[in-house]
Amino acid sequence: MGDYFQNIVARDVSAEDAPRLAAKIRDWLIARRIIEPELSDCTLGDPGHRPGPEYALAQETPNSDVLHLSTNGLQIEVGRTVLYNLQPELTCRVCGARFEPGRGYQDAVSIWFEGNDAVTFGCPQCHTPERLTQWDGASPWGFSHLGFTFWNWSVLSERFIREVSEQLGRRTLVVRDKL
Ligand SMILES: [Zn+2]
Repeated sequence: MGDYFQNIVARDVSAEDAPRLAAKIRDWLIARRIIEPELSDCTLGDPGHRPGPEYALAQETPNSDVLHLSTNGLQIEVGRTVLYNLQPELTCRVCGARFEPGRGYQDAVSIWFEGNDAVTFGCPQCHTPERLTQWDGASPWGFSHLGFTFWNWSVLSERFIREVSEQLGRRTLVVRDKL
């Protein structure tokens, strides 16, 4: 059994704004008792926040299994990060092609990670370039200075994800996978 994660990735957040927005969302989640205020060793990365008494407010179908796991925290990731899954699938906004990106995508990802926010990636079908950070699809990757990774929580509800976007004042995208 692996560990399942969901990242809510904030789009278009600058390195400058990320710490302030991270604190805002953390405080909002603590105030709603969705997460515990203390940091503890409960993620596969940095210390995170375990589910609070009202964790079910974030879930599509409330499920208490998460409470019994040792890896069950929210990890807040500040800093330039690629939030990835093992089988990305993208959809071209222009021609509608759905595809699993290959080598050229990896090259663009490396260039973004080195600091070029404007790097583009072209659709393999119609060759229309689009900024790497703007690609979407059935299983997109996220590129951001701010991400919220929920470890082993059952599916986050659309409503919850929308609320987080509203609090951030930014569009978001969700990256999901199992490790
Ligand atoms: Zn296309």
